Amino acid sequence: MLPTYAVGYSYVTSGDVKDYTYCPTIVWIKSALGVREPPSVDMVLGSSKPYRSEVFERIGIPKPWAFEVLLRCKHLGISGVVDLVGGSRRYEVAEVKAFKRRNYSHFTSQLMFYAYLTSVVLGPVVRAHLVLGDRVKTYSITDRVLQEVERVVKRVREIKNSDRPPTTPYAGSKRCVLCWYRRYCPSV
Ligand code: SF4
Repeated sequence: MLPTYAVGYSYVTSGDVKDYTYCPTIVWIKSALGVREPPSVDMVLGSSKPYRSEVFERIGIPKPWAFEVLLRCKHLGISGVVDLVGGSRRYEVAEVKAFKRRNYSHFTSQLMFYAYLTSVVLGPVVRAHLVLGDRVKTYSITDRVLQEVERVVKRVREIKNSDRPPTTPYAGSKRCVLCWYRRYCPSV
């Protein structure tokens, strides 16, 4: 029997996991203080979804394809909207970004969360693809990957439900210089 986390708690989303990877303190600030960074022009442009079927064909994502699929598991208290789910019975997922990025580890975490969410709600996921403009990173989805996502989801939930900010390895780092949440941050 799966553990039930959802009762009395908010959902852990792909956005939470992305924030956590960038800096765990952002998850806490958003949850505890209820503040959100207003979208910049770059963020709006970067969030556009250039779905290019020739790219998905080249990668070999099986059909049928479904775009912007809202998935939710009430039992585990997790939800997200997956850019592309391909296949039937054995699935592949893709997260699509308009531009290349130098640092994309937070998008990779988000993608792995989508793979986990899809595996829980629909069925086994074998590959996950991060599309960054013309560049594609493809990952095999193993039990170890899914276990790591479970660990992150658990940690994110703890942070969201805590009165105290988490420790972060990024306090005082270069990330803080550009961080919009710095003005609310208890770690700097
Ligand atoms: S200012 Fe630094 S420590 Fe604080 S939330 Fe931003 S990145 Fe994290």
